[in-house]
Amino acid sequence: MGRIQARRERLKQSLVKEQVDGFLVASPVNVRYLTGFTGDSSILLVGPDREILVSDGRYTTQLEQECPGLERHIRPTGVEIPSELGRVVQGLGWRHLAFEATNLTVAELQAFSVAMPSVELRGVSGWVEVLRRVKDQEEIEAIRSSVRIAEKAFAILRAGLRLEETERDVADAIEAALRRCGATGSSFPPIVAVGERAALPHARPTRTRLDRDDFVLIDWGASGEPYKSDLTRIIATGKVTSKFEEIYRTVLTAQERAIAAIRPGALAHDIDAEARSVIDAAGFGGFFDHGLGHGIGMEIHEAPRIRKGSPDVLEPGNVVTVEPGIYLPGWGGIRIEDDVLVTDDGCEVLSRLPKGIDSVTID
Ligand code: ZN
Ligand code: ZN
Repeated sequence: MGRIQARRERLKQSLVKEQVDGFLVASPVNVRYLTGFTGDSSILLVGPDREILVSDGRYTTQLEQECPGLERHIRPTGVEIPSELGRVVQGLGWRHLAFEATNLTVAELQAFSVAMPSVELRGVSGWVEVLRRVKDQEEIEAIRSSVRIAEKAFAILRAGLRLEETERDVADAIEAALRRCGATGSSFPPIVAVGERAALPHARPTRTRLDRDDFVLIDWGASGEPYKSDLTRIIATGKVTSKFEEIYRTVLTAQERAIAAIRPGALAHDIDAEARSVIDAAGFGGFFDHGLGHGIGMEIHEAPRIRKGSPDVLEPGNVVTVEPGIYLPGWGGIRIEDDVLVTDDGCEVLSRLPKGIDSVTID
């Protein structure tokens, strides 16, 4: 059995547990994960012994190429998705159908209910996402390659960085470099924040210029086929202050402590607490106002979530970011972010860009 078919088989355990006849997968990312199909406007139905991708005529050839063994149902032109889906589901004799509560709009749900009046629709969540948490070897290699691309792009950016460039110039440059290095694009719009503006963890690039003896926070990542990476580094131009050094070293220590605690069976909450305790002890406890990290994969934010109160337990094959930060309003912010694979006996940091305090400054 192929690796993609095996995912659908694992999904069937949820059907049994929830006592439903089938599962309707509407999210394009989850459809892709479960079938290999890269198009959209298509819905996957998974039952105990039938799996059907309901798609349309535009995709006939693509479906043959991307998911050859899978049963397909082509919706005739002019027929809306809900009514065609209703016909298929009722034809299968399914009475209880689970759907992805977090991926269907209220309007879509209403349309589906009207189209299949004899079917009880039940919202469930996380069925596919829980499978996506654990990456197989091919997925790990895809993330690795996405990390390498992001690193190469950063090296190009760093080498070409000039004072007087604006945050927007830098964001454009990194996006161009990502594509030149083999990415399909950015995994999210890059965050580029000079000095004081870096106090906003999700700053949008503006026309603010880089200046001498200042620093810039860059948070970027590559989108591959389709696996993503997510990194953050700080570049300082000229001299840094002792305050910068103190905060930078604190964030770096917090990150190293958290990474050292990552292993199978560790609680995500505890990993977050490792980093937080370092930042608290340094007196910056009130200035680290987001979770420590998140899973990455086909999407930029996935399970597991590494944050306070997270119920997630780390398993081999999880790939997570570790990104502590300290943000001081009126001064600026420092964040350092790397991508980490949970292995059988610990973890492997996939990203290797230098991050020691000596590596931060460019002339
Ligand atoms: Zn990031
Ligand atoms: Zn992140």
